[in-house]
Amino acid sequence: MRTLVTDIAELVTNDADGPGLLGIVTDAALLIEDGRVRWAGPAAEAPVEAAGAAAAAERVSAGGGAVIPGFVDSHTHLVFAGDRSAEFAARMAGQPYTAGGIAATVAATRSASTADLEDNLVRLLRQAERSGTTTVEIKTGYGLSLDEELRALDIINRHTDESTLLAAHVVPPEYRDDPEGYVDLVVERIIPAAAGRARWVDAFCEVGAFTEAQAARVLTAGREHGMMPRLHANQLTASGALQLAARLGCASADHATFATEADLAALAAAGTVVTLLPGVEFSTRQPYPDARRYLAAGVILALATDCNPGSSFTSSMPFCIAVAVRDMHFTVEQAVWSATAGGAAALRRPDVGRLTAGARADFVILAAPSHRYLAYRPGVDLVRRVYRDGRLISAREDCP
Ligand SMILES: [Zn+2]
Repeated sequence: MRTLVTDIAELVTNDADGPGLLGIVTDAALLIEDGRVRWAGPAAEAPVEAAGAAAAAERVSAGGGAVIPGFVDSHTHLVFAGDRSAEFAARMAGQPYTAGGIAATVAATRSASTADLEDNLVRLLRQAERSGTTTVEIKTGYGLSLDEELRALDIINRHTDESTLLAAHVVPPEYRDDPEGYVDLVVERIIPAAAGRARWVDAFCEVGAFTEAQAARVLTAGREHGMMPRLHANQLTASGALQLAARLGCASADHATFATEADLAALAAAGTVVTLLPGVEFSTRQPYPDARRYLAAGVILALATDCNPGSSFTSSMPFCIAVAVRDMHFTVEQAVWSATAGGAAALRRPDVGRLTAGARADFVILAAPSHRYLAYRPGVDLVRRVYRDGRLISAREDCP
């Protein structure tokens, strides 16, 4: 099965050898074979091999639009029930955000049927795909008991390879007076039972959630059971959580809204990706971190949605790119890289987030001539077609 994509005004390859950060090729073509990128480059320089293969290939015109790698959303919480729009409205009217609102979603999620939870997840996943997302990480964390966390993992594993056990999201109400007892449950029962069913282990290290010592126990136990660690760190307050993420060799430290120069140096030295989540600062009126500081310190930056019903209910990576550029001082190039190759780095996935030979053929055809339009035209749906493994998964053919 071969597909030749032609009429590409601008192809973002994220080729590490350049040119530039995005490896942009203009007037490009892309040859897909059996779900992988076989060749990418200038249409006029298509190798004979590719041109020969093209004869038997299905042809797809990008219509003079840009083609970019599918977005890699490396941080979502899509297994939940309930509605927190009233909490959002109250916050916009002046009430502060705290970690405590998660309890409302825990109660709604526990009382929802598996079918309802899965239907909601599928609906959100389809919305994400329509906006160009082709790889999604999904966390548990609204069940907070042995059975409920495993139920959430089973749902997640039916829809993505990037499953994360976040049993240490908040302390559930029945352990309110015994948080250590809940950490014991996570470490001694939930993590062993989740072994082989979660690729990642995560914890929310924050005032009102878990201490650094508790988070370290959870991530260490997860690693002993074959899960790789990542951490929610420094969302609401400055703490030692970012240094902890670096010390434990986390693939990613997420949020990092508050970070000292020493934190950034430690993360850069450890190769821990920092995943910034613009939807959270947008939806909670927290101050935005300045990406320029992180990049100057040598930190690798990813962008993700943190899609969840409390602090960031968006599944749109283009929205996150626009906010990151406007309010976090990303360059447009850096934002697009962080939403694709950066997310792939945060998930340790060398096969996605790029369009070079051998990569998975996950790509987006934009109804715009350049990746720059993703930030230049905020709120406008510019995603015309989305492909995963070389197969069309979403199309808006009326998109001019
Ligand atoms: Zn999160």
